[in-house]
This record gives sequence, C-alpha cells and structure tokens, in this order.
Amino acid sequence: MDECRFTLHRIEGYIATLYLVEYKDKVLLLDGGARRDAARIEKFFVRELQRPLADLKLVLVSHMHPDHAGGAPLLRRSSAIPIAAHFEIDRWYRGPSGALQHLIDTVLGHYSARQQFGKLERAWYPRRLRPDFLLHDQESLPYFSDWTAYRAPGHTLHDMVFYQEKERVLYAGDLIIRIGEKLLPPFPTLFPELMRKTLQHMAKLPVQKLLLAHGGIVEIEDSESFFTSLLPQVGRCDHKSFRMIEPICSLVPDARIYRKSRTNQD
Ligand SMILES: [Zn+2]
Repeated sequence: MDECRFTLHRIEGYIATLYLVEYKDKVLLLDGGARRDAARIEKFFVRELQRPLADLKLVLVSHMHPDHAGGAPLLRRSSAIPIAAHFEIDRWYRGPSGALQHLIDTVLGHYSARQQFGKLERAWYPRRLRPDFLLHDQESLPYFSDWTAYRAPGHTLHDMVFYQEKERVLYAGDLIIRIGEKLLPPFPTLFPELMRKTLQHMAKLPVQKLLLAHGGIVEIEDSESFFTSLLPQVGRCDHKSFRMIEPICSLVPDARIYRKSRTNQD
C-alpha cells in the first residue's frame, strides 16, 4: 500500500484559497487562512470530510500576512492543532514599525477582500504567531515526512513553500499570484534579489502541480522554464493601484534594512 497517497481539497477562504491534504489517518492544512477561515475549516471537516477536526495534525503558515496567519491561532486555541512555520517568522512584525505595518496589512487585506469578493469579515490576528514547530530550509514536516519545507524569501523575508516530492506538488503560498489570466510574482515583492534566487531555486524542483493561495491550481509541464519565465517580472509593478500603496507596504524593519543596504551599494 502507498503510505503517501492523499486527496487534495480546496477551500475558498476570506481572501486566499486554502488546501487540505487528506490522508487515511491524518490531515494537513496548507496555510491557516484569515481569522474567520478557522470556522470554514471546521465546517469543512464536519460537512465534507465527515471526520473529526482532531484528524487535522498540523497547520502550516507560509508567511505572516493576515490571509495566511490569521486562522491558525484560532485552530490551535479551539482544538490544540499545532502550527509550523519559518523559524524566524515572528521577527517580521517586530517593533513599532512592524506593529504599524501589521495594522496596515490587516486593513489592506480588508480592502482586497472588498474589491475582489465584495465581502467584509473580522480579520484581526496576533502579530506574533509563536509556532509550535520552527521550520528550516529543506526540513521535513512534522507528522508529514513526505512534505519538505523550503525557504522562499522575496514577498516577505520569512516565506516558506511546501513540496511533496512523490506527487510533485508545490504549495507556493504567495510566491506567485494570478491576476486575470497572468501568473506573476506577488505584490509586494519587498526583496527582489531574494525573489529571483527563490524562483531560480524552485526551477530546480520538478514541480507538476502548483497550488496558489491566489489563483488556484496550475498544472506545469516544464518547471524550469515556468519559474525562469517569471524572472523578468520580478520588481516590476505595472498595476496602478499597487504602485499607489507601495510606500505603505515596506515599513517593517527587515524591509528598511534591505532598502538601506541596497542604497549603500549604489
Ligand atoms: Zn502575502
């Protein structure tokens, strides 16, 4: 019998799409979604999977934005489900400027939900995640050793993506987003040089199925050419509305340190 066999389920959250990976004896949640997505997940277990929420063994958080890190703390509080994330994820919103960015990102999350889906939900969440499992690059996931975590900085400094080698499935979080028919690097890409390196690194993985938080499931024929084709798009900001809010998206300490180091190099 194949121990790795799983069924993939897709849940449309408040802002992002969430994915449940269902095994015979356990379930993995690919990204915790926004605050109210915790209730959507609980409902999905009861109505669709018809199995207890206790079968959910682990919640992954790809990065600290409100549509990814908002639901996990509630699932942990209500049902003791452990959280795994980048080992330094709690540095992202540190300090007064981090607190301000956390507030701005939550408001921008609302704005995005309102614009795209015409809905408004409570989305406030703690700015420190305090993960139960601290993940490093190329580390196997707890309880799900067939999945590997990869660091994927660019969008934030602590983004991670998660790869299942046998099925060649990559959960990409916000590494790539879909706008209309186009697949693009995300907004904001606060660390363009690091994003390019991340995409070059991903091009070495023989990915066949890409799971996006914003854009659904993408089948890939040639992983190397797919990821390298995104490189020229990194750092470009063609959308007028994105350009307008760009100055208020890079207040966190790590983004300011990075900007300063780039200025000093020029
Ligand atoms: Zn994000």
